[in-house]
Amino acid sequence: MENRLQQRPDPVLQNEPFAMQNARVTDAFWREKMRLVRNTVLPHQWKLLNDAVPGAAKSYCIHNFRAAAKATARRKNGQEAAPHYTDRGFEVLPDEPDAPLPDRFYGFVFQDSDLYKWLEAVAYALADEPNEALEAQADAAIDLVCQAQQADGYLDTYYILNGLDGAFTNLKDHHELYCFGHLAEAAVAYAQVTGKTKLLEATCRWADLLDARFSDSPDGCQGYPGHPEAELALFRLFAATGCARYRDLALRFLNRRGQRPYYFDKERGCTPAAPEEPRYIYYQAHLPVREQHEAVGHAVRAMYLYSGMADAARLTGDETLLGACRVLFEDVTARKMYVTGGVGSTADGEAFTFVYDLPNDTAYAETCAAAGLVFFARRMLQIEPRAAYADVMERVLYNGLLSGMSADGKRFFYVNPLEVDPAACTGDPRKRHVHPARQAWFGCACCPPNLARVIGSVGQYAWTKTQDTLFVHLHIGGEVLLQTRSGESHVLMESEFPWEGNFSVRFPDGCGDIFTLAVRIPAWCAGQYTVEGAENAKRWVRDGYLYLQKAWSVQDALQFNFAMHPQFVRSNARVRENIGKVALVRGPLVYCMEEADNGEALHLCTLDTAAEIDVSWETLLPHTRVPVLTASGFRICSPEAAPPLYAPAVPPKRENARYRFIPYYLWANRTAGEMQVWTRAEGNTGFAGEKKC
Ligand SMILES: [Zn+2]
Repeated sequence: MENRLQQRPDPVLQNEPFAMQNARVTDAFWREKMRLVRNTVLPHQWKLLNDAVPGAAKSYCIHNFRAAAKATARRKNGQEAAPHYTDRGFEVLPDEPDAPLPDRFYGFVFQDSDLYKWLEAVAYALADEPNEALEAQADAAIDLVCQAQQADGYLDTYYILNGLDGAFTNLKDHHELYCFGHLAEAAVAYAQVTGKTKLLEATCRWADLLDARFSDSPDGCQGYPGHPEAELALFRLFAATGCARYRDLALRFLNRRGQRPYYFDKERGCTPAAPEEPRYIYYQAHLPVREQHEAVGHAVRAMYLYSGMADAARLTGDETLLGACRVLFEDVTARKMYVTGGVGSTADGEAFTFVYDLPNDTAYAETCAAAGLVFFARRMLQIEPRAAYADVMERVLYNGLLSGMSADGKRFFYVNPLEVDPAACTGDPRKRHVHPARQAWFGCACCPPNLARVIGSVGQYAWTKTQDTLFVHLHIGGEVLLQTRSGESHVLMESEFPWEGNFSVRFPDGCGDIFTLAVRIPAWCAGQYTVEGAENAKRWVRDGYLYLQKAWSVQDALQFNFAMHPQFVRSNARVRENIGKVALVRGPLVYCMEEADNGEALHLCTLDTAAEIDVSWETLLPHTRVPVLTASGFRICSPEAAPPLYAPAVPPKRENARYRFIPYYLWANRTAGEMQVWTRAEGNTGFAGEKKC
């Protein structure tokens, strides 16, 4: 296995994240989140995967692996023929939740992926700080995974337990290839961090089987994943192992997608009445990838697919594919993304709808989709470092992604709405997917471990490097080790983000070579920034990055300050939901108002955008001291006198009011209650129509 894990100097892999051991996050904000993941989230999730948290939804994940390991052992000993496959459905639950039969598969068909995402997050935690107990727990889990693997490399507990004769017969709805992808990501991360290759070897055996099974030969399966993930994971496996077959398998999956006749039709044995109509939009298989120019369908599938497409475009130089990626990124982020970075406007199919359709109270904005947009943006940055990609990445990370986890790391949101009325969550069937409080766990638990692995690897998104340039996409404190032509050089970064706009860079080793530091200028500072210490550097701005070039010495110290004023923002006027409303932001953070601070009936609130916004540091939660914003406005006096429901339109009585806003990602950490991001406003709400056209 000595060639399984290697650092390859490949010119097409030029703009890359740092190896985990060469990039350490020291940032106060993110370290606290990483500590939470390491000390609370991961142990808690381990219990949940083992169904050991009373009152939480059952996972059955470890149960399934244990059952599969026993089945595999029996099979290897020739003791038992494989059971005949019967369709058990997308989710199977035991008759008695606390008494699952020991040899049965339970949960969703993709339950294996929860353990793989947990293992990947463990790898990142171990990279940050050694932890013998956690590593031993992960090693034991890896042993269990390997015990479940079949002699030929096959590894999916659903089919191991329900009948291997059914393997690869439902690529559309079952998730063998999706689970493989998460296994591959975990295996690469775990091997790179710990040097242990047991899981990577198992993954490569599984990948080798897939490579043979999904070959282009006449007897090869011409299918592709119903839920993208294997593609980006195979590219990652290729980067880690250098095995080109894994890259080529990913390219085959991408190139087959959406071709006619649809593979999923053939798989289902159906003949469509209107074969010319695009179908399989939910699966992101409606069109060939190079012909996809609109973000439609299931949002998480879209984000994972686009991430794989971007990898492919970078690795192959395919301009048509890159063009599709650019258009899709634009369509998502300029027309279909919430101000929090959330994507997916409807619960129906967990999907995109149409342009500028961004309802706040029925939003889906799944945490996994937010993670997927971060993956996509970072991959686009690797191809072309443009601040527009990193601005989106920052928006998602600090808002719509972090909102997925409670401040104590024990409860999670799957859906991240921008407006909540708890009464509507139970009283309105259209809002049943919206919860006013985070949940302990989910039967479909894709989001919590996804969040854990993104937080743990935030350094992989903050910085990338080429041979002569260090890109700072996110202003996160950290230490990276650069390989320069004359040797190694550390770069230290300190940051007060997201609370203040100060960011500094030092070069403790000096650097004999001329070297370029490229620091993103955030869009939210509107060009208001200063940089000290760069007087002797060659300097230029390109695509939203400030490039500073010189032979840096130990005496060099760069101090950036990006203006971080609170400001009201408006939506494009075509967003019907937000007309006449504003959101409050400060730097990378979107703010919201909660019932806990502002009383009930938040819809009665109006902001005066001409008034000053005050910033005050407050201890919002134990150990959580943050800038709270206070704005002035009016409040319609409530409740109005009982009936009538309708009356002549005279202005309602209203009183002056002060409103408190907290960072959106911290909402629902106190008492359950109403929340809203967008608030009606008077004064200058920024709409051209308010001036004389
Ligand atoms: Zn999810």
